[in-house]
Amino acid sequence: MILITGGAGFIGGNFVLDWLAQHNEPILNLDKLTYAGNLETLAAVQDDPRHIFVQGDIGDAQLVSRLLAEHQPRAILNFAAESHVDRSIHGPEDFIQTNIVGTFHLLECARAYYNGLQGQAKEAFRFLHVSTDEVYGTLAPDAPAFTEQHRYEPNSPYSASKAASDHLVRAYHHTYGLPVLTTNCSNNYGPYHFPEKLIPLMIVNALAGKPLPVYGDGMQVRDWLYVKDHCSAIRRVLEAGQLGETYNVGGWNEKPNIDIVHTICRLLDQLRPRADGRSYAEQITHVTDRPGHDRRYAIDAHKIERELGWKPVETFDTGIAKTVQWYLDHPQWVANVQSGAYREWVSKQYTQE
Ligand code: NAD
Repeated sequence: MILITGGAGFIGGNFVLDWLAQHNEPILNLDKLTYAGNLETLAAVQDDPRHIFVQGDIGDAQLVSRLLAEHQPRAILNFAAESHVDRSIHGPEDFIQTNIVGTFHLLECARAYYNGLQGQAKEAFRFLHVSTDEVYGTLAPDAPAFTEQHRYEPNSPYSASKAASDHLVRAYHHTYGLPVLTTNCSNNYGPYHFPEKLIPLMIVNALAGKPLPVYGDGMQVRDWLYVKDHCSAIRRVLEAGQLGETYNVGGWNEKPNIDIVHTICRLLDQLRPRADGRSYAEQITHVTDRPGHDRRYAIDAHKIERELGWKPVETFDTGIAKTVQWYLDHPQWVANVQSGAYREWVSKQYTQE
C-alpha cells in the first residue's frame, strides 16, 4: 500500500490511474477536494478495491496519523498543493496553509510513523515530495537550464510556498533521518488538466469561440512535460532514488507560450475546423502580463536520466497531439468542470472523513 495525497488533482489523478494500470499494490488516496480535486477523473477506478479514497486535509494530523496506523503504507507521495500561480497572487493564504503548514503536519505524522516502524518496513519506507521547477526562479534567455544545484529564488507566492515545503522536506531528512526524496518538475500537460491552466484553457476557449488570452508578449518560455512521463519519473524515483536527493524532471521541450498557443490552434484547425473555415489563431488576444511573471524556466534532467535511467516517452509534438485529442474526446468531463457538476461526484461515492 502507498499513500498519496492530492490524488484527485491533475497529476495525482493521472498517477493513480497509471499506478493501478501497472501495479497490484493498493493506493490510499487522501485529498481535500478543493476546487482542483475532481473525482470524475477517477471514475474508471471507482469500484476498484485497490483504490481507497479519503476526503481530508494533509494538515489534519489526527486523520493522517490514524490513516498511517490503519493502513501501514510503505510510502507517502505528497502531490497535494494549491498549484495555480494566478490564484496565489490574488489570495496567497491557502498556499501558505496547504503547501507549507500542511506539508509540515504531514512530515510530522510521517516522522512519528517512521520512528515506529521496524526492520524491513523501516528500511523500505519513503516520503516522496512532488515539487516544481518554479522554486528556482527565472532564467536569462541564454543561461543554462536549472540543475539540482541551482539556488532557490522563488518569485510568486506559489513558488515561495513550494520552496518552503521543499526546505522542510530536506530538513526532516537531515535533522530526523526521514527517508525523503524530492522531485522538481517542469510544466505538465495532458488529460484531466483543470481548464484554468494554459494548455487546457486554450483548447477549451478555442472550441467555445472565446478569446485565447495570452499574457503580455507571450514570449515567456517554459519546459513542458507530458503528465504520464512525470508519473513514470515519480515511480522511478520512488523505486530507485537515493535518499535525501532531489531530481529535476523535464521534457527538454522549451517553448514560448505563444508557440504553444499557435500549435494548439494548428491542431484544432486540422482536427475540428471552425465553421467559418478560418483559423483558431484569430481568437488570440494579448492581455496585461501577470505581475512578477518569470520569463524563462528550463530543466536540466541529466541527473535522473543518468542515475535512474528515466527518459520521457513523448516528444512535445506527440504529447500535445494526444492532449488536444483527449479534450476533443471528453467534452463531458470539461462541461462538468465548467458547470461545477464535477463536485457532485463527492456525494456519489467514496468515504468522506
Ligand atoms: P492540482 O491543483 O491539479 O491538484 C492538487 C490536488 O491537491 C487537488 O486534488 C486538491 O483537492 C488537493 N489538495 C489541495 N489542498 C489539499 C490539502 N490541504 N489536503 C489534501 N489535498 C489537498 O495540482 P497538480 O497540477 O496536479 O500538481 C500536483 C503537485 O505537483 C503539486 O504539488 C504541484 O506543486 C506539483 N507540480 C505541478 C506541476 C504542473 O505543471 N501542474 C509541475 C510541477 C510540479
